[in-house]
Amino acid sequence: MITCPGELAPHIAGERHVEKVALTDVAARFGTPCYVYSRAALTAAWQDYQQALAGRDALVCYAVKANASLALLGLFARLGAGFDIVSGGELARVLAVGGSATRVVFSGVGKRHDEIAAALAAGIYCFNVESASELLRIDEVARVHGMQAPVALRVNPDVDPKTHPYISTGLKTAKFGVAIDEAPELYRRAAAMSSLRVRGIACHIGSQLLDPLPAAEAAAKVAQLADLLHGEGIIIDHLDLGGGKGIAYGEESAPSAADYLAPLLQALAGRREKLVFEPGRSLVGNAGLLLTRIEYLKHGRERHFAIVDAAMNDLMRPALYDAWHEIVPVRERAGEVRSYDVVGPVCESGDFLGQCRALTVEEGDLLAVLSAGAYGMTMSSNYNTRPRAAEVLIDGETAILIRRRETIAELMAAELPLPDVAPTTPCPPG
Ligand SMILES: *Cc1c(COP(=O)(O)O)cnc(C)c1O
Repeated sequence: MITCPGELAPHIAGERHVEKVALTDVAARFGTPCYVYSRAALTAAWQDYQQALAGRDALVCYAVKANASLALLGLFARLGAGFDIVSGGELARVLAVGGSATRVVFSGVGKRHDEIAAALAAGIYCFNVESASELLRIDEVARVHGMQAPVALRVNPDVDPKTHPYISTGLKTAKFGVAIDEAPELYRRAAAMSSLRVRGIACHIGSQLLDPLPAAEAAAKVAQLADLLHGEGIIIDHLDLGGGKGIAYGEESAPSAADYLAPLLQALAGRREKLVFEPGRSLVGNAGLLLTRIEYLKHGRERHFAIVDAAMNDLMRPALYDAWHEIVPVRERAGEVRSYDVVGPVCESGDFLGQCRALTVEEGDLLAVLSAGAYGMTMSSNYNTRPRAAEVLIDGETAILIRRRETIAELMAAELPLPDVAPTTPCPPG
């Protein structure tokens, strides 16, 4: 498993490679900006969880929203993964790569009728229900289809995960889930609904968690709830402890899955329920980077700027969360070290990938933005009518294009002109 960002792209003969492929060659073949993933690193991250859970009845459901690339989903499906989805679109992706619906959990606060129906038809493992109204809706949709819907309630154990407020989800004030003290009453109601089958309890307290104790604390509260329900004859088959394990973006050290899960597994020692986990970031984050080329250097009086061809629309995390990604040149060069803001071409002051980075670079150099495998491509947009980046998977000595760069024509393809201003052939000059 990759434990520090730079490990994905070590220097070989003065140049950064992913596995056996030089990043310069990737840029030459596929252009920039370009996301680059390592099959070996993805597989190692998966195995890190498998080893941590060896001997347990456990299901690891990869959180599709972290990186929804069909190639990555297909890889995880072949490794035996389940999937945590948050939309009908993500379900379609999982099914498209031959992922097993019986290992899919469906999270999210706003499931629509059609999404619930599609998940029921596919035969998913469990709906993670986030409100009383949703419980009623799922019961109704299941009844209409003559089916029984497997459900877990997502509870808020109200533990502070000590992470960024935007990615902290398990506090009382969050929009997610139901307060754990209101859960027993809702479980009683669910147990009485004829088209629901109560199956589990779910929680997910936040993301980018480096301290394992909040997750263990949450697990203990969830287990207590299971015992209380058991006493009332409501039998819980599985405990879904969510995702959230953090990765190293910089110098911080991130725990392995075994270290992260140890206190949690200890808190649940001797219990009979199946355990479900929903890791996203920790399976893909450090297995990917964003490759970009410097278009211009701009030396202002106060600051130096490296203006690159990737932007906030490609990697939103710095603009959205003030997130820090390590940025390294693909080839080291001799010369003056300057402190650069690495910025994109988008017309927003928030459009930066990194600030105050000590770099020795020239125009035309390639940079690698590390730890970009999670919440990179999936959060990208076409802002400023910028086609989204290409994606490449490295497998040993082979670079495989897994998503070609969008074309500008594709960006306009779904749009309909107003009838009276339909595009015409341009007027001849004069
Ligand atoms: C986002 C999310 C995950 C994955 O979180 P990571 O921090 O990427 O591991 C898992 N479960 C739910 C319900 C989520 O919303």
